[in-house]
Amino acid sequence: MTKKAVQKDDAEWREELTPQQYTVCRQKGTERAFTGEYYDCHDKGVYRCACCGAELFSSETKFDSGTGWPSFYQPAKADAVAAEEDQSHGMARTEVTCSQCGAHLGHVFPDGPDPTGLRYCINSVSLKLDREEK
Ligand code: FE
Repeated sequence: MTKKAVQKDDAEWREELTPQQYTVCRQKGTERAFTGEYYDCHDKGVYRCACCGAELFSSETKFDSGTGWPSFYQPAKADAVAAEEDQSHGMARTEVTCSQCGAHLGHVFPDGPDPTGLRYCINSVSLKLDREEK
């Protein structure tokens, strides 16, 4: 495991985050589909990590996947997120985490739209939208 720029122990995360954020981001949980704040959000801005504030995704690359989770075809910067094989729940998936703090964000699947063909399926609760000034 590479050293993260933002490192806090479990008790610190538990204190700082809401119970749902803690379960999803630090214990690799998943919010229920169609319940999150951002799956149907079309506002412009930058989606930051709910745990550390790192810039993760742009609204420019967000698309309606119909899955009930916010979906993006690429991260804000190539190294903003890290991908790791995940064999849990009897499925072979690729987990996506925040490069800066290690927060669990969601998974990436190879069935996204052009230009990347990728679908980053992200929990709303892992994100905080920094809305563009109108
Ligand atoms: Fe983070």
